Amino acid sequence: MSLPPQLTPEQRAAALAQAKRSRQERAELKNRIARGELSIFEAVNDERESIRRMKVLELISSVPGIGKVRAQAIMERHHISPSRRLGGLGVHQLTGLRGELSVSKVDTPRGNLVVISGPGGVGKSTITSELRNDPRFWVSVSATTREPRPGEKEGVDYFFYSEEKFHSMIEADEFLEWADFAGNRYGTPKEPVEKMRALGKHVILEIEIAGARQVRQREGEAKMFFIAPPDWDELVRRLVSRGTDSPERRAARLALAEQEMAAAPEFDEILINDQVDRVLSTLISLATSRTE
Ligand code: 5GP
Repeated sequence: MSLPPQLTPEQRAAALAQAKRSRQERAELKNRIARGELSIFEAVNDERESIRRMKVLELISSVPGIGKVRAQAIMERHHISPSRRLGGLGVHQLTGLRGELSVSKVDTPRGNLVVISGPGGVGKSTITSELRNDPRFWVSVSATTREPRPGEKEGVDYFFYSEEKFHSMIEADEFLEWADFAGNRYGTPKEPVEKMRALGKHVILEIEIAGARQVRQREGEAKMFFIAPPDWDELVRRLVSRGTDSPERRAARLALAEQEMAAAPEFDEILINDQVDRVLSTLISLATSRTE
C-alpha cells in the first residue's frame, strides 16, 4: 500500500482553506435554495467545482418542504444513487427530477429550442457567437464530417467526426436532426440539447434548412428563425469573398443559397441581417419568450 502524499505546512494550509471555501459556497447555495431564491436546476447549472462535487441528496433536501426522507424517496424513484454528486447527474435523471419537482415554486422552466437557419454566408455564425456570451442561452455544438478550418477547435466549433463515427451515431439515433450539405454531413447531438433545456437554458441550433425542417417536424414548439441577407447581391458578395472555399465549393454554395432562400416562408420569423445588433435584440426577445 502506498503512503499518503506528504504535504508541506503551506500545502496543508492551502488545502484546508480551499475546503473551507467549498463548504461556505455549498452552505450559501443551500441557504438560497431554502429561501426560495434559487431553483435546484440553477444549482445544477453552477460550474463551480465545489458545487459540482456536492451530493444530490444534500441539495434536494434543502428545497423548502422536502427534507431528507422525501429527497431519498424522490431519488430512489429516479434511480439516483444516494452518493451521486451534482456533476454526475444524467439527462434522464434530470428530466425525472424536473417532473417531480415542477410543482415547486422555485422550479426553473424548461428552456426553449431555438433554430437559426438561412443561406450559407448570411452571417448566422456571427449572430450565434454573440449569443454564446449570454448566460440565458446555450449554443449547441454540431458534429460534422468536414475538415476543420484554420482556427476551428474540436468540441467548440464542431465535433469533427469520421464518416464511420457519424454513421454509427445515425444508427444509434443520437441526432436530433442531421443533413448532407455541400458534400459533408452535419448533425445535432440529441442528449446535450435535452440536458441544457432541462437546466432551463434556451438552446440555439445554427443549422441549414433540411435540418431545420426535421426539427420543426419533431419539436413542434421550436422557435424557427430565418436569417436573410439585405439583398441577393450582398449575399453573393459575402459568399465569394470567403477565401476558405475552392471555386467548385463556392459555386455549389451559391446554388444551394438560392434554393435555401426559397425556404424563408416556412419559418416563424424572417430577420433581415442588415445590422447585427438589431437582429440580435429582436432575436433575443423572441427567443426568450415562453412557449410552455
Ligand atoms: P460550415 O461548413 O460553413 O460550418 O456550415 C455549413 C452549413 O451547415 C451552415 O449552413 C451551418 O448552419 C450548417 N450546419 C452546422 N451544423 C449543423 C447541424 O448540426 N445540422 C445541420 N442540419 N446543419 C448544420
